[in-house]
Amino acid sequence: IVSVRDLHVSYGALEVVKGVDLDVAQGEKVVIMGPSGSGKSTFLRSLIWLVKPRSGRVVIDGVEVSPQTLMEVRKKIGFVFQHYNLFPHLRVVDNIVLPLVKVHKLTRAEALQRAEEALRVVGLLEKARSYPLQLSGGQQQRVAIARALAIRPRLLMLDEPTSALDPELVEEVLQVLEDVARRGTTMLIVTHEVDFALDVADRVVFFDGGKIVEEGPPDILYNPATERFRQFLKRLH
Ligand code: ATP
Ligand code: MG
Repeated sequence: IVSVRDLHVSYGALEVVKGVDLDVAQGEKVVIMGPSGSGKSTFLRSLIWLVKPRSGRVVIDGVEVSPQTLMEVRKKIGFVFQHYNLFPHLRVVDNIVLPLVKVHKLTRAEALQRAEEALRVVGLLEKARSYPLQLSGGQQQRVAIARALAIRPRLLMLDEPTSALDPELVEEVLQVLEDVARRGTTMLIVTHEVDFALDVADRVVFFDGGKIVEEGPPDILYNPATERFRQFLKRLH
């Protein structure tokens, strides 16, 4: 459902993604790991041109990303960032309803129904009328996940969804993501949560220096082929 060919992304003169090829199958869960600064976030963002690639080709759900197709493609993608990016002045439910009405052109009634469904999935239906700042960090991140789910994305991308959370809140978010994964959504997740990757990932991809250095089934976490991945994993524990 995703096909990336020879993708290059730069910030000015600094090349950050240096020729990445990646295919993701329908329903597949791919975990991306790699040291800080290796280009993981830039890579995810560049797939939908939040950072415009310098060159290369991205096809998502059969559509090549281009100026003409960008808006259409973005509508099919759910994106969850490290920081939840909720609108503080909107109730939880309206954070989810608003993009459905404005961007996806659902009626308010349809949007409300979708929002409630999504909040049920993340276990926060009872917080629908709360404001984001009345929730814990873990709950806010679960709302961000619900918002992404409510658009019924063809692809869900998550960039370190638990790394900004206090340790005691990480588990509830990972649990929700495991549930989401089981529902069959195609997921591309940057995370360093090894246990989560072992449980959920179909494939693990190791980024270093803007390139994919190693990839394979989650067992490579036990037995990495490259010294760089081995060193990286060692530093995690
Ligand atoms: P982390 O694990 O810390 O999130 P990352 O693998 O996600 O790191 P990126 O955020 O993609 O890495 O950054 C890759 C490189 O690009 C870094 O050297 C970073 O300083 C640089 N960079 C990132 N965003 C920008 C930007 N908006 N402008 C200029 N340089 C940037
Ligand atoms: Mg990052």
